[in-house]
Amino acid sequence: MSYVNTVKMLQDTMHNNYVVGAFNIVDIVTMSSVIDAAKEKKSPVIIQTSQKTVKQLGYKILSASAKLLSENIESEVALILDHGTDMEIIKNCIHSGWSAVMVDGSSKPFEENIRTTKEIVNIAHKYNVSVEGELGHIGGVEEHIKISDSDVKLTDPEKILEFKKLSGVDSLAVAIGTQHGLYKGKVTLDFARLERIMKIADFPIVIHGCSDLPEEDLKKIISFNPSKMNISTEIKHVYLNTYKDYLCNDNNNYEPINAIKLVYENTKKLVADYMDKFGSSNRYN
Ligand SMILES: [Zn+2]
Repeated sequence: MSYVNTVKMLQDTMHNNYVVGAFNIVDIVTMSSVIDAAKEKKSPVIIQTSQKTVKQLGYKILSASAKLLSENIESEVALILDHGTDMEIIKNCIHSGWSAVMVDGSSKPFEENIRTTKEIVNIAHKYNVSVEGELGHIGGVEEHIKISDSDVKLTDPEKILEFKKLSGVDSLAVAIGTQHGLYKGKVTLDFARLERIMKIADFPIVIHGCSDLPEEDLKKIISFNPSKMNISTEIKHVYLNTYKDYLCNDNNNYEPINAIKLVYENTKKLVADYMDKFGSSNRYN
């Protein structure tokens, strides 16, 4: 079984010039698409679950399925709680078999963000669960979190070492202008800031909001060699558009399994294509 936490998986990317994709699943079908893409592409992968997904599907189903689906495959698979803001949910994930959690204390002042994140790090590390923190404030809409443009706060590169040292996180999400959800208008990313962050950081850096980026921006982010990039919105769109197209084009054929098969295939293709773009394919013999 290659169910792992994200520590070694992300550290391996740092000197080998590739990125691990983290994909938000919405059910067991999309989870199996992501894990099967990893298997076929011989790529490490991170399955992400939002708090909303956890509440809907339940702890046991999600963690048991992730472990079961990653049995007997070469590819390393991690399961992370994305944007944990509810301490109870974060702790339950740690105790229910998630291999990683993200603590999103990004809306809090610096010291409070450190305190909250460290509280979880102390528990998580006892269970061999890795922790991602967030410094700065990523914009857009992600499940329960809505950040207006005026509240976006790009990460101060000069603060990241202090945050890492005092919180004890294993990886850190930074804000460089990427957004959750679909991009409206021109995308403006602060590459000088990312360059400075990558120069200073001696630990894995994470970029959120990588769906729907212009190809050129996506490539440029990848070229700075962050360790993890998150794809969520595009999966939601593939998922619902597949059902919508199925119902519109095939409206005499009410066969759920046929529609589920299409969702599985379309999601798997999206994920596999990202693995090629991220350079994480063919990591195993
Ligand atoms: Zn995010």
